[in-house]
Amino acid sequence: MKLRCGSTVDLPRPKIVQNTADPMKHGSIITRFAPSPTGHLHKGHAYSALMAFSLAKELGGRFILRIEDIDPTRCSRENTDQIFADLAWLGLEWELPVRVQSEHRDDYTTAVQTLSARGLLYPCFCTRNDILREIERSGYAPHGSEGPLYPGTCRHLSQDERQNRLDAGAPHALRLDLKKALAETGRDLTWNDTIQGIQQAKPELLGDAVLVRKDIGSSYHLAVVHDDALQGITDIVRGVDLFEATHLHRILQALLGLPVPTYHHHPLLTDSNGNRLAKRDRAITIRSLRESGVSAAALREELGFTMKWGA
Ligand code: GLU
Repeated sequence: MKLRCGSTVDLPRPKIVQNTADPMKHGSIITRFAPSPTGHLHKGHAYSALMAFSLAKELGGRFILRIEDIDPTRCSRENTDQIFADLAWLGLEWELPVRVQSEHRDDYTTAVQTLSARGLLYPCFCTRNDILREIERSGYAPHGSEGPLYPGTCRHLSQDERQNRLDAGAPHALRLDLKKALAETGRDLTWNDTIQGIQQAKPELLGDAVLVRKDIGSSYHLAVVHDDALQGITDIVRGVDLFEATHLHRILQALLGLPVPTYHHHPLLTDSNGNRLAKRDRAITIRSLRESGVSAAALREELGFTMKWGA
């Protein structure tokens, strides 16, 4: 399901989500909004942030803002500051200090070492082109929902070959050896998605995923799973575009011995042509709406959030 932006009729009200949340969580729920400062937030982000915030507030819980800026090639301080300004204008309040992922790289390295020590990761020296060539050459690559998966080229390297390349300082990512990982966790991994119901995790949809990128020494997947557990997040509200990633997050939780939050993967807002809203589309950023005279109350109402604000 996609949601039209600019119309109030087909936006699910936050109540839909709140009604499905576990009433036992009253007072103990912790939600978060975890944007990456790769551009300015738009209406879709506002919807997600408001949903996470109101879910926590209506159940007497806590709301946390986290900045996911581990990728210095795409994130900027200016965008982070803009996020703070936009969310404050929208009427959100969050706990301080805000966790900024780029300040905690050692934490993610420790998680990597935990997995590495158990032989669950392997170095991958492939470039994007190497991977495409290998897929073409073999004529076969397992498919996930977004196309061919990594064909496992570097998983098959001999120990000597691997060591020689590492000793020569060859740039490499670290991938999860999914087969070994599943041998540890078993296949009985589920999560509760309040919108789509109980889900059986299928990490094979992502294959041997990259857990440490060549260029940034970490990855979104590892950092997000680590931080959600560290911050005690009980309920993850985010767009359905991240639904598939949850299959991987679930196995990472099992491997790292972390609790499994409840997920609320909400539908995405679209523009009048049915396209997903994008950060590069300046017209619908929160900042541009504000600058064009839209009030925060009007935006909240358009998005379906009419709870008494500031009460
Ligand atoms: N940082 C991610 C993004 O901005 C979202 C992470 C999440 O909600 O799990 O796309």
